This record gives sequence, structure tokens and C-alpha cells, in this order.
Amino acid sequence: MEKFDVIVIGAGPAGYVAAIRCAQLGLKTACVDKWLDAEGRPSLGGTCLNAGCIPSKALLESSELYVRLRDEFPEHGIQPGRARIDIAAMMARKDRVVRELTQGIAQLFQANGVVSVQGHGCLQPDRSVRVTDDTGKTAAYRAEHVILAPGSRPTQLAAAPVDGDRIVDSTGALAFEAVPGRLGVIGAGIIGLELGSVWQRLGSEVVLLEAQQDFLTMADRQVAREALKTFTRQGLEIRLGARVLSCRVRRNKVEVRFQDGDGEQSLKVDRLIVAVGRLPNIDGLCAPGTELALDEWGYVHVDEQCRTSLPGVYAIGDVVRGPMLAHKGSQEGVMVAELIAGRHATVDYDLIPSVIYTQPEIAWVGRHEQALQADGIPHASGVFPFAANGRARAAGETGGFIKVLSHARTDRVLGVHMIGAHCSELIAQAVVAMSFGASSEDLGMTVFAHPTLSEAFHEAALAVHGEAIHMARKAVRRRAE
Ligand code: FAD
Ligand code: NAD
Repeated sequence: MEKFDVIVIGAGPAGYVAAIRCAQLGLKTACVDKWLDAEGRPSLGGTCLNAGCIPSKALLESSELYVRLRDEFPEHGIQPGRARIDIAAMMARKDRVVRELTQGIAQLFQANGVVSVQGHGCLQPDRSVRVTDDTGKTAAYRAEHVILAPGSRPTQLAAAPVDGDRIVDSTGALAFEAVPGRLGVIGAGIIGLELGSVWQRLGSEVVLLEAQQDFLTMADRQVAREALKTFTRQGLEIRLGARVLSCRVRRNKVEVRFQDGDGEQSLKVDRLIVAVGRLPNIDGLCAPGTELALDEWGYVHVDEQCRTSLPGVYAIGDVVRGPMLAHKGSQEGVMVAELIAGRHATVDYDLIPSVIYTQPEIAWVGRHEQALQADGIPHASGVFPFAANGRARAAGETGGFIKVLSHARTDRVLGVHMIGAHCSELIAQAVVAMSFGASSEDLGMTVFAHPTLSEAFHEAALAVHGEAIHMARKAVRRRAE
């Protein structure tokens, strides 16, 4: 039985990062992964690279370019002629981006000496890992430490069973061969909004059915309100409080029956995306008798440092509590590698940024205002609109705002919430500032380059104390209320 210091099960952003960091720290490391691409070849990177973050962002970029060419170029005095969409070329580009990145992980494994093992890994009661490859051949490996990083899979909905053709999950929605005339999406969460936006930009009429009465409950209320207004103006039809009762595929159409505040209704669409969350991949991860404890929601139970109930076994990424985000899993991967190597390491779970890559983008870090209110934490708020920012006006990207929340007594920044162009990049400044315990006054005293969108962050911090320069004092106060 081949022996390692560390075996990682899963080569998504949690597992592959953990494996590389372990190898960098001098640990003999193997990483087991079962993902095969459409041609049946091993493809590292997990959901993130193969069917998540990367392909979705490739399509968001292509569809955004199309909209800009069609709607915005003429305003800049550029007449490109009639824009035409070639879906096959768009998909081929997306697949190329994915291939290059997944091959990049294989190269990184090789460069760092990580042994890549293809197949399904199963933790045994004696802590060895049994791997079954795609031909059915099995092999056993032993290690001092095992890191479980098997990720997650889409939640199924009994009322809308995915058939991979008319009714698809997020993976299917990344590979439509034509723009659906009418597209239904169940779930107006992150995937629903991002993928709904892709196809809406390319010409689909998109209807999102969301079970909750409120929109984007994980975001700050003020941001969620602005987002709902903007997405509705863009043409996304978002039906809140909608409960799907059944779906029937007939003559290449999906008939969706649902109930909302207006009673029972039906909707006919060409394709339907089911995007109602994701569940941890537990099935087949452990052999009977292994006794790995799960938490009450079915995730692998871990402590703050990702230790499971089994000595020497860690779990990271989507399979454990916390937001299902690639960067959260990667940071846990680094932490666990450091711990195994005998170093001190932690993850600051309060400062994990979230981004929704719609247009405008939505991003936040820290606590939102409704959470501060609910916990009775005295706070002050500063809001600055991009419409008052010079660079945003020059770029024609004036929608949205940045909101800074700080403690009313200490002035320490407790949360930053943004909606607007390039917020996925801007949020990093807030994460850094909060990591160093910045106050809004610290940010106000910092020099930001002009003209940049970042100046809106500066002004929002100044607005906490009613001191924003490019906004009338009255407006500053009104927005803060
Ligand atoms: P995964 O990436 O799911 O990887 C797990 C790997 O383990 C897979 O390759 C799987 O095949 C393999 N595996 C599972 N069980 C076994 C086993 N027993 N043996 C061997 N191998 C096994 N997050 C972001 O932060 N930003 C985004 O923009 C973003 N966009 C997304 C878009 C979409 C459409 C989706 C679906 C998700 C998106 N996410 C995004 C979420 C992100 O993809 C996940 O949070 C992230 O991939 C989780 O990483 P992970 O390593 O825990 O698991
Ligand atoms: P989500 O939790 O973001 O949204 C699911 C939505 O579906 C929720 O609004 C929920 O209320 C709704 N819903 C649940 N059951 C329903 C039902 N029966 N009918 C109608 N609506 C229903 O989950 P998701 O969009 O599927 O994404 C899964 C995970 O992937 C998320 O946790 C997210 O963290 C991650 N992800 C992240 C990004 C990013 O970081 N930009 C992008 C995509 C996915």
C-alpha cells in the first residue's frame, strides 16, 4: 500500500490548494479526484473550474460584451454594425478557458510534486483511502493525514426533476446550444441571477421564480432593493413568493405550475434552470463503519480549524459549514496544510467577501445593516452613489452605490456593501481595510487615486461622518438614514 503524509480527496479549489500548500511545506501528498471532462479525460479543479466559477464568468463576459456592443458603443461614437451571436463559438471559447485552467492545475501538481490519482476516493475505517478508477480498478493508499474536499452538487427539486435537456441544473445551463426563446429559472439566488443574466443578455425572455417573499436575503436590504429595481429594468422578470408545484415537458416546452400571491398559475418556457442551492457530497465518501460525524444539516462536522470527529482527518470547502465559495474553501485548504505542517493558522470567517457577478456587480464583506440592527449594535452608515463619481461618469457606469457601516462608538468598519460596476474588484479594498481593523476615519484619511471608482469607497467612508466632498451634506445625511 503506497504511503503518503497527506491524501486529499477532491481537487476543487479547496482540495487542490490544500494539496499544493502541503507539498510546498515538504509533505508527501497525493490528491484523488474523479472528475472527467466530456471526452472522458481527468479534469482537475472541481466544480469551480469545470462547471462553476470559471465557465459562468466566461459566459458572463461574452454576453456582457454583446450587450455593450449593441447598446453602449453607439453612445461612444462607435458604430459597429449589427452584432450577431455565434453560440457555438462562445461555448468553444468558454471550454478553451476551462481546459487551459484545468491543465494549469495538473502542471502545478507536477511542479510541486503532488501525486494526482484518478478515481473515486473512499475513506476506510482504518483511515486508509480506497480509490476506484473509472475502469473499476481499485487501489489503496495510506497517509498520516486525510483531507476531505469532495465539494457539493445541485439540490434536486421533486417538482422539477432535471432531465438534462429541457430541465437543467447549472451545469446544463452553461452549455445550451442555442438561446432559449423563453427561459424559466427556479431560484433567484446567485446562480439564478448570474445564469439568468447571461441568457437574458443574449436575447432570452427570462422569468425567475423565487420561493422567498424577499429578494436576496443574504445581502444588505438597501443593496437588494437597488438590485431588484435594476434587474427588473434590464428585463429579468422576478416573481417572489413563488412555490413551484409541478413541471411537465410537452412538445419541447416546459409547463411550470406554481403558486404565488396571485394564486395558482402556469408558465410555459423553452428551457428551465433549477438553481435552488447545493448539497454537500457525502455519498460514498466513507466506507461503512468509518463513523465520520455530520452536523445537523448533513455537512461534515468540523471545528473552527476544520478538524473532523476522526483524528488526523480534516474536511474543507463546500462539504463543511460556511458559505459555498471557492475562496473560502481555498483558504481552509491553506489553513489545514499549515496545521498539518505544525504551524499556527486560522481563517477569519467574518471577513469572507461575497460577490454576485451580475451587471451591476454586487459585493459585500462583514455584516449587513439588518444584522447589526437585529443584534442591537449601534452603528453609523455612509453611502456614496457612483453617479457622483467622475470615473463612473466617464465610463458611463453610474448605477449603484457603496455603503460603509461602522460602529457608532469605536468607528471600526463592520461591513461594506456595494452595487455597481467592478465591485468584484473594489470589495478587496474593504476586505484588506477590515482585516487590519480600519475605522471609517482611517479610510477617510487615506489617499485614493483620481479618477477611480475606488474614490466612491473613500467618499462612502467620509459619508459615515457626513463629510463626503462630492455630495451635498443634506443628501449625505438622508442616505445615511
Ligand atoms: P468542488 O469544487 O465541488 O470540488 C470537489 C471535487 O471533488 C470535484 O472534482 C469532485 O468530482 C471531487 N470528488 C467528490 N467526491 C469525490 C470522491 N469521493 N473521490 C474523488 N473525488 C471526489 N464560488 C465562488 O467563490 N465564486 C464564483 O464565482 C462561483 N461561481 C459558481 C458558479 C456556479 C454555476 C456554481 C455551480 C458554483 C459557483 N461557485 C462560485 C461555488 C464554487 O464552485 C464552490 O464553492 C467551490 O467549487 C467549492 O470547492 P470545493 O473544492 O469544496 O468543491
Ligand atoms: P442560493 O442559495 O444562492 O440560491 C437559491 C435560491 O433558491 C434561494 O433564493 C432560495 O430561496 C431559492 N429556492 C430554494 N428552494 C426553492 C424552491 N423550491 N422554489 C423556488 N425558489 C427556491 O443557491 P444557488 O444560486 O443554487 O447557488 C449555490 C451555491 O453556489 C451558493 O451557495 C453560492 O454560494 C455558490 N455560488 C457562488 C457564486 C458566486 O460567488 N458568485 C456563483 C454561483 C454559485
